[in-house]
Amino acid sequence: MPSDPGAVPVVTGRCYCGATQLSSLTPPLTVAYCHCADCRRWTGAPVGAFAAFNRADLITEPALGEGTSHHPAVRRWNCDHCGSPLAATFDYLPGQIYVPIGLLDQADTLPPQIHCHANKGMPWLHIADDLERAAGSGRDALNSASGT
Ligand SMILES: [Zn+2]
Ligand SMILES: [Zn+2]
Repeated sequence: MPSDPGAVPVVTGRCYCGATQLSSLTPPLTVAYCHCADCRRWTGAPVGAFAAFNRADLITEPALGEGTSHHPAVRRWNCDHCGSPLAATFDYLPGQIYVPIGLLDQADTLPPQIHCHANKGMPWLHIADDLERAAGSGRDALNSASGT
């Protein structure tokens, strides 16, 4: 929780139904597309896009519970009421938590920096940008966003 109760979040968001609110006092570490099949199924979208936060900086109300895990290195949380994807953590990205960009009120000012699992993307999806396209998880680039 924020130590300064007067601090104003720089990022806010909510799930589809509004039962889950999200905020952070610090901006995302980075923003990434993920073209993997797991993120497609979880979000229902042809490609996921996620803002990475320091896990300690992301505030959710209500707090995240146990979440679910269908892969030993991944945990995902959905809204208890509407089922919206809320957040995911990955063992290979320690200290970070990934929030679907579409939940955030500031999404229009948070452009992605990288395509992860770019080789798994839908062949009919063409995103014209010059961003790095990682064939795998992009973990090196994503971990370096933490400054560690
Ligand atoms: Zn909800
Ligand atoms: Zn993914």
